[in-house]
Amino acid sequence: MVQCPNCKEFYHENASFCPACGTPAPKSISVNASVTETGPFGSTTTEVKLSDSTFVGTYATFGERVLAFLIDAVIITIGTAILSAIFSGGGAFIAWILTAVYYGYFESSKYMGTPGKIVMKLKVYSGNGHPISFLNGVGRYLAKLISAIIFGIGYLFPLFTAKKQALHDMIANCVVIKASN
Ligand SMILES: [Zn+2]
Repeated sequence: MVQCPNCKEFYHENASFCPACGTPAPKSISVNASVTETGPFGSTTTEVKLSDSTFVGTYATFGERVLAFLIDAVIITIGTAILSAIFSGGGAFIAWILTAVYYGYFESSKYMGTPGKIVMKLKVYSGNGHPISFLNGVGRYLAKLISAIIFGIGYLFPLFTAKKQALHDMIANCVVIKASN
């Protein structure tokens, strides 16, 4: 999947034009070469790899997202336990606020994802390919309530939606991309 340099829309790497604004697709470049130099003390080989910098990745799969979720759950659980100890109580409320701020802060940061997503190389973009705002990240978290309330089925949406979006991604107009590097 490539990202249009003009309007930031994501589209398939085989397309020659951006379907949203008509800008011609960036030429894809892929070079693999190796240079071997022989000196008095033997030879050294230098590998040169250049790949298309416009290729951003693919839509994250359900499994990748589950792993990111589990990593974040561990961090949030530990954070909640520490804060609950400090404030001696209020665990559920602290967990709720902490999680909302955690998702809003990290998903709108330069990493475009929570620590769990960073480990899994996942990035949250808005539906039109731009980074999301803090409020958008918090809104996406709140929308997870809806994904959860229908017996968690909203979380399974990436298994069958075109852009592998969960229900809360659709509500918050976001996509999750597995970065190529
Ligand atoms: Zn475009």
